[in-house]
Amino acid sequence: MTLQSFGVIGLAVMGENIALNVERNGFPIAVYNRSRDKTDKFMAERAPGRNVKAAFTLEEFVAALERPRKILVMVQAGKPVDAVISQLRPLLDEGDIIIDGGNSWFEDTERRTKELEPAGFRFIGMGVSGGEEGALNGPSLMPGGTESSYEYLSPIFNKIAAQVDDGPCVTYCGPGGAGHYVKMVHNGIEYGDMQLIAEAYDLLKNAGGLDHNQLHEVFTEWNTTDELNSFLIEITSKIFPYIDPDTNLPLVDLIVDAAGQKGTGRWTVQTAMDLGVAVPTMIAAVNARIMSSFKKERVEASKILTGPSGKYEGDTKAFINMVRDALYCSKICSYAQGMALLATASKAYNFNLNLGELARIWKGGCIIRAGFLNKIKNAFNVSPAPANLLLAPEFRQTILDRQTAWREVLVTSAKLGIPVPAFSASLDYFDSYRRDRLPQNLTQAQRDYFGAHTYERLDKPGAFHTEWTPIS
Ligand code: NAP
Repeated sequence: MTLQSFGVIGLAVMGENIALNVERNGFPIAVYNRSRDKTDKFMAERAPGRNVKAAFTLEEFVAALERPRKILVMVQAGKPVDAVISQLRPLLDEGDIIIDGGNSWFEDTERRTKELEPAGFRFIGMGVSGGEEGALNGPSLMPGGTESSYEYLSPIFNKIAAQVDDGPCVTYCGPGGAGHYVKMVHNGIEYGDMQLIAEAYDLLKNAGGLDHNQLHEVFTEWNTTDELNSFLIEITSKIFPYIDPDTNLPLVDLIVDAAGQKGTGRWTVQTAMDLGVAVPTMIAAVNARIMSSFKKERVEASKILTGPSGKYEGDTKAFINMVRDALYCSKICSYAQGMALLATASKAYNFNLNLGELARIWKGGCIIRAGFLNKIKNAFNVSPAPANLLLAPEFRQTILDRQTAWREVLVTSAKLGIPVPAFSASLDYFDSYRRDRLPQNLTQAQRDYFGAHTYERLDKPGAFHTEWTPIS
């Protein structure tokens, strides 16, 4: 029997598409799914004419693969991954490689690595981004684990990943849970991007008075610019003109304004707090989704909590350009936070991440793919790398040039009562980072006052405590 080169477990959206991508690139595949119906459907609808072997038991699946076996597990993150690994493990041989391609929590990946590698198996935790279309035609892949194990997989991954001007969108991220950590931060950045775009839309629609055709034109135009050209801006431009066939109205206007989330944005914020890294734009994005979920409560509140309203009274074209500048400056701040988080995590967990290379593999395939990632790559591929993206000359200059517009947009939104939490959090990040003196001297005094926590002084070294009760 001819053996297959690569196996995929889990034939939901991601698994079936990545399986077909692997096969199309010249690697015969074996597939298995817990419920037989998905396998039957896959074989009937998508596998004809392709080199695919369907297995209906894990024993059959394992027997169909050449050694060392390369098995991509593409199932729901969490307990299902452990369930699959524990069923698979007794059937495997030393040196076989399990790749977890789901959105696993990086500490689970560290634990699984410690369970599997000493027993002679190889384990790779890999972030996959690009959704259904990316999985099929070229995702961005973020593998982590033991580098020697990755070497067995790189010929396959180099072919199935999205291809950009400077290579395939895959790189060995680092040991243990590094790949899943990078994917998690990618998703946190994605939350920030999506919230910033939502705020730009709100401003253009409700302050600028743009209708869906004008919104389509503005986002289409933005997508041609060096700074904003990106997958998310592109799909946004395509959403506005979509007319609902039942009502003849723009579909976007009929969609309930309550955003879902699966948890990777929240995880990013949680790990940032654990590591002491400020990520205000991502926090604002997660909060905004939470606020949006209180739909019923908001509808009631809207009847009694009044505030300002109205439209921007100046030139509409100028306003559109100001919103564009605010969006770009905020986006730079958001990526600055994401990259700062990766840099800190790299040290804390010994991931040895290469930030320039991570920006490179996000240039194609993934949800945050964008022209400006090339600039981020270049910003970090210098020695010494900037301590923060805001300090990289090109980004620094961009913000200096555009900050007046950014501030004007925030003044306008405050006057008109339009919430822009991610725009504001980004500007606050910039203003906090650029200030040599913040008001936390007072915070320190208060902490010392009520808790004798001590403080340091500007004029002499040491830790000081004061009996603060005024001497009268
Ligand atoms: P999913 O909806 O997250 O998971 C469904 C798959 O998991 C099915 O094949 C299901 O098998 C299997 N499964 C669930 N519990 C199982 C268990 N206890 N034992 C064995 N199999 C089990 O699928 P997905 O959307 O394709 O995502 C797969 C992974 O990729 C997830 O970690 C997801 O977070 C990540 N991801 C998804 C996207 C996306 O756009 N969807 C993008 C990037 C990454 P049955 O058919 O038997 O129920």
